Amino acid sequence: MTEHAERAKDFVADEKRMHWHDQAVWFVRNKRDVARSFVPEWEELRSLGSQIKAHTLSKLPDYLEQFEKNATANGARVHWARDADEHNRIVHGILREHRVTRVVKSKSMLTEECHLNEYLEQQGIEVVDTDLGERIVQFRREPPSHIVMPAIHLKKEEIGELFHDKLGTPSGLSDPKQLTEAARVHLREKFLGAQAGLTGVNFAIASTGGVVVCTNEGNADLGTSLPPLHIACMGLEKIIPSPQELAVFLRLLARSATGQPITTYTSHFHGPRPGAEMHIVLLDHGRSRILAREEYRSSLKCIRCAACMNTCPVYRRSGGHSYGVTVAGPIGSILAPHVDAKKHASLPFASSAYRLAGGRVGAGADLGVSGLRKAAPRARAAHPQSLDAPARPAAHAARELPRAVEETCPPAMTRCARCEQQRPRKSRCRTSGGSTPYAIRTCASDSRRAWSRWADVASRSMGPSKPR
Ligand code: SF4
Repeated sequence: MTEHAERAKDFVADEKRMHWHDQAVWFVRNKRDVARSFVPEWEELRSLGSQIKAHTLSKLPDYLEQFEKNATANGARVHWARDADEHNRIVHGILREHRVTRVVKSKSMLTEECHLNEYLEQQGIEVVDTDLGERIVQFRREPPSHIVMPAIHLKKEEIGELFHDKLGTPSGLSDPKQLTEAARVHLREKFLGAQAGLTGVNFAIASTGGVVVCTNEGNADLGTSLPPLHIACMGLEKIIPSPQELAVFLRLLARSATGQPITTYTSHFHGPRPGAEMHIVLLDHGRSRILAREEYRSSLKCIRCAACMNTCPVYRRSGGHSYGVTVAGPIGSILAPHVDAKKHASLPFASSAYRLAGGRVGAGADLGVSGLRKAAPRARAAHPQSLDAPARPAAHAARELPRAVEETCPPAMTRCARCEQQRPRKSRCRTSGGSTPYAIRTCASDSRRAWSRWADVASRSMGPSKPR
């Protein structure tokens, strides 16, 4: 039995819960399908999103530097972290400098990836997750099971019991509206007492130096408007060139994630508000290694919409915790084996996606999962017992997946003559001592074609959409 299958055993043994979870997640996937049917240019948008990401990744160092320059000009302080440890130390350093003892945090998968909560708690700082689902799993001292709906594995009755225990709500109360109201009152007090607000970042705009945070609860806005200190934590891959491209991704993200036309709150932060401080922490933590490896590079296009999870029959029937990583499902099955192929060797088999349509897959925004086909044989070689994989999914699952988009302009990298590694930088190689210049080649005609198409679609992207 694979490690994933072993971890999924208890979840699968409770057949009723397994079917309930399957249907709850599939319900969201159906909402996404309805939402996309109102956008006639949906497939074009997905294709554009993929091209914009390919282009941005091919010029990532330039865009990162441009972002840093503009964010600094806006009054924010930009920090660079090589790995999770450095990220946590930077955040803690900022908080210590301001004598912070309580932080309110909006949903951020990156801080989950770094285990920031545990780290700060060890340093005596109280961290309060303010996203409702995140607060629920924080109360239970367990990780989120889904990147968009962190507590999707729990029934409302279980949440009622939890709130009775933690917040003193009446025993047996399971009405979602009343439970939400209780959480709202509890969190309001935490917001008022916080000395710093921490957020993730959905998109960082190179040309303006601004960051964009999407929430449905407005908790990022409250968390950054009340305390005098805002720390935004982001992975390097969140960069996009300009606000024009943002329109494409905002249209894709909410529809793919929850079936909404747009997230309830799309907050733009361009520097600190008067009298406050803003810090942006840029994290690598293996991302530049992924960028340098062609077979994994597409995974950096992922905008974390979770549509691939909602589609994947294995995820729906085994639950997010069975993956044993922060990001579960098909995209997590690419990301985790890249970091440690042996430890996570069973994960490429915990997703049906790579087996379907000859590996040309795509569920939601179709940005990241196409790397699965290549990731699986690598993991299989590292850990042969992974051949004991979940059974091939039913044929109907294949029909659930829409067609994949073509990547038109893969970024070209060059090898550093001294350290022998593929490098995206066009200036100097830091690993080899910084003395060997090397350059990125890009396909100019494809870039030009992509730019003109973006301009066209982005210009009408906020216009009204009609059902097909
Ligand atoms: S891989 Fe695609 S479908 Fe899955 S979360 Fe990322 S963008 Fe969404």
